[in-house]
Amino acid sequence: MTRARGGYVGRVLHVDLSSRRLEARPLDPTLARAYLGGSGFGAKVLWDEVGPDVDPLSPDAVLIVATGPLTGTAWPCSGRTEAIARSPLTGIYGDSNAGGTFGPGLKFSGYDAVVVRGSSDAPVVLRIADGVAAIDDAGDVWGLDTIQTEAALRDRYAAPALQVASIGPAGERGVRFASIQATPNRSFGRCGLGAVMGAKRLKAIAVSGSKRVPFVDRAGFIELAQSLHARLRANAMFPACSRFGTPGLVRVVNEIGRFPTRNFQDGEFAKAEEISGETLRERYFVRDTGCFACPVRCDKVYRIDAGRFAGLETSSVEYETLNAFGAGLGNADLEAILFASDRCDRLGMDTISTGRAIGFAMELVQRGILTRGDLDGLDATWGNVETILSLVERIATREGVGDVLAEGVRRAAAAFGAAARPYAMEVKGMEIPAQDGRAQQSMGLAHMTSNRGADHLKAFPTVDETGSAAEVLRRYGPQFLPEMADPHATRHKPFLVKDGEDFGAVVDSVGVCKSGGTFVMAEIYWPEIAAGLRLATGWALDEEELRAIGERIVNLARAYNARLGIGRADDRLPERMTAEPSPARGARGQVAHAPKMLDEYYALRGWDLVTGWPTAATLDRLGLGDAGRALWGYGGG
Ligand code: SF4
Repeated sequence: MTRARGGYVGRVLHVDLSSRRLEARPLDPTLARAYLGGSGFGAKVLWDEVGPDVDPLSPDAVLIVATGPLTGTAWPCSGRTEAIARSPLTGIYGDSNAGGTFGPGLKFSGYDAVVVRGSSDAPVVLRIADGVAAIDDAGDVWGLDTIQTEAALRDRYAAPALQVASIGPAGERGVRFASIQATPNRSFGRCGLGAVMGAKRLKAIAVSGSKRVPFVDRAGFIELAQSLHARLRANAMFPACSRFGTPGLVRVVNEIGRFPTRNFQDGEFAKAEEISGETLRERYFVRDTGCFACPVRCDKVYRIDAGRFAGLETSSVEYETLNAFGAGLGNADLEAILFASDRCDRLGMDTISTGRAIGFAMELVQRGILTRGDLDGLDATWGNVETILSLVERIATREGVGDVLAEGVRRAAAAFGAAARPYAMEVKGMEIPAQDGRAQQSMGLAHMTSNRGADHLKAFPTVDETGSAAEVLRRYGPQFLPEMADPHATRHKPFLVKDGEDFGAVVDSVGVCKSGGTFVMAEIYWPEIAAGLRLATGWALDEEELRAIGERIVNLARAYNARLGIGRADDRLPERMTAEPSPARGARGQVAHAPKMLDEYYALRGWDLVTGWPTAATLDRLGLGDAGRALWGYGGG
């Protein structure tokens, strides 16, 4: 096997925690060309190794942590890496992306990816130092929160550039939306991959090293990267993204009626200003921070100086969290939101799913489906901070009703009875993030089609969110106007979602950020990534091949779900979104014509209109003939 020439360090670490066997294997360059890295690499390993009979929390489950060829390079916002496994929350394909510095650290330690199988009989840490891997005892850190764990491992290993990905008590207890927290305070939040680590008794992965990423054309790559840094800084959106980060969205999104309020009963929160990015910055901002090689530095450190939460200093407070613990729960207490966000990071839980699970329970009490007694005596009045904070702890420790909510909204709905079901705001078992599709039709479709369940980041449609005709012209052309720029129109939205999903699959596989430069600022699109890969790897790769790689990754993940029986019937929104018009002023109705949008989307993808599965011909065209044979019983090479 010839080695990958540039962009990769060229090795994958395979870990079997049952036998405690560690094996470094060369990265297969054919695999790298076909799937790039990150989520593409993970989708391929899942397809090959994790069949429908493998329980996500069993020793046979496989967890992949994979960087991409641009991770840890001079490319702007190249601190991203991906964790992939069959999700314990949804039972289907699961992946989650984190920024910060852990991904670059993994690459500098001498590995492009880590593939973890088996499970240990005692808590362990996977330690990698300059290419040398070891499985160390973690008995002393088991039970600690993620911040304490990272501090203890820093003391233990005394490596100045140590990067840690760890789980907290929630992952140890199998909370189905447990996160993996990565240096510094970043999250592999969605899909419950922290619970996969917990089931394997893998408390943390700690990496350090000084390996540098090789390039085929280093000077050319650096020149391109520098020009992209300059373009980002000159972008009209740069100042706002840099000043407020994602919290800057609160005010804008609330105005268009897309801001889920009280478990999606409304799309507009009367007290949005109290939890806006502007208020957050004005009252609690300490300093900017950000991920590896990022000029945007959208993350902020915040501190509360007085009152009940005095002394709290925290970061990575995102738009999603402000909604999940704010408007989503009818709560305008910004300090309590900061505290809840920090607790979730420490306990190791996805803030979106945690907030949505609490909102679900509150609505059930509002409607008389649950009683106060069912909620362990807690007062479920919307915005009750004591109840919200208590439920966060109960979920993490699986105490009382927290044990039910820790299973995620879909399973909790089954436990609470049929009357609860209409209020479970999830798609394919994934709690819906802070993007109400009733105010942006493309987002409604994106929630339906995403391979990991309800999701805003896979397709990440932004041109109709901003209503920018200029951006439609620049990216797609005049034939898509005026509808594509209109958030309430359904025409052209299947095309927008498909293109976004394919591009997003590439972005998640090369190891760069979706906020910085790609979807939001649109300075980095297909041509720039193709050019960067050519310079880094030496591949004669053009935009057309890159688009096909994106399609391949999306289709393989879809085939993975299809093999589990997932199809058209699962591409559906909760009835509230399709049948119940949002009362928000900017929303103008419900997600209309969902079946028609799906038909058009399937046709664009080359998927069967009845099953919603990729056809054998489509899989064959993308070099996924084995998936075609598995799904349909026939197919080419
Ligand atoms: S834009 Fe924000 S999330 Fe993206 S790499 Fe920069 S700091 Fe990280």
